Amino acid sequence: MTFEIKWLGHSWFKIMADGVNLDFDPLSKKYIKKLGIAEGSGHSPNSDFIMVSHSHGDHWDKETIRSLRGPRTVVIAPKNPANKIGEDVTTIVAGQKLAFERLSVLAIPAYNLRKIYHRRGKGVGYLVTIGGKTIYHAGDTDFIPEMTTLGKVDVALLPIGGRFTMDVNEAASAAKAISPSLLIPMHNLDTDPKELVPLLQGHKNIRVEPMVPGQVIEVKDY
Ligand SMILES: [Zn+2]
Repeated sequence: MTFEIKWLGHSWFKIMADGVNLDFDPLSKKYIKKLGIAEGSGHSPNSDFIMVSHSHGDHWDKETIRSLRGPRTVVIAPKNPANKIGEDVTTIVAGQKLAFERLSVLAIPAYNLRKIYHRRGKGVGYLVTIGGKTIYHAGDTDFIPEMTTLGKVDVALLPIGGRFTMDVNEAASAAKAISPSLLIPMHNLDTDPKELVPLLQGHKNIRVEPMVPGQVIEVKDY
């Protein structure tokens, strides 16, 4: 099975696994420009699944979603922004599981513990099983207790930027609790994602892969 992960920047990942294309948190052109990503690099059409973590404008864009949609694309989002995306969106709440032919997904809570930006019950993270592998996109969240009971996670995508989410130290603690085989930092803001590497040096079972926008990594069997 091929299993590729492309990071477009911020929290936008394109997963290509077992013939399924999945986009997490696709960005608007405005943010693509702001982040210095080559425009169009994420716009392969006919995404099979698009999953949006929460309502903030740096995690979804109506126009981008439209450009990624094919005739059978499933778009999944919490109630807000599902109501704003408008066209044929499957709403999801934390704790809910959806099963499709080649993919299943469980929505995980995503919220701040001591910050005000992400209130509990609004946004979600996604625990996706595809081709026998489990990938966890945390959304915008702090290191929350729910992360300690995710079960086996092959790939974890965790925010590290601080301010709106957990910072790099908290992400390292979360990674130790989740214990993924592969850890990719996201939502970096001003934090150098390479800072995560030494924080997990004693944990040889976790491979940390700081990525650059547009980079693709192939996840080999591990
Ligand atoms: Zn947010």
